[in-house]
Amino acid sequence: MTYYLNKNKQSTQSGSNYEIHKEICPYYYNYTDGNNFIRLGVYNNDFDALAAAKNRFPINAHEIDGCAHCCPSIHKK
Ligand SMILES: [Zn+2]
Repeated sequence: MTYYLNKNKQSTQSGSNYEIHKEICPYYYNYTDGNNFIRLGVYNNDFDALAAAKNRFPINAHEIDGCAHCCPSIHKK
């Protein structure tokens, strides 16, 4: 599965984080206008994708989480 990180910070209502999506997520493929997504790469599970995103963007590591829809296992409430 290919994972993507939304470069746009989400609103406070959804946790005020940068969210990770899978390629199959409607919140990814319905919002590809504007090139707001960074391709993280192919990972076997959400936890590996999250670790990779935090590695790549250590300054924002505490603000990265998963989309509630496609990556609930790494979604912060
Ligand atoms: Zn998603």
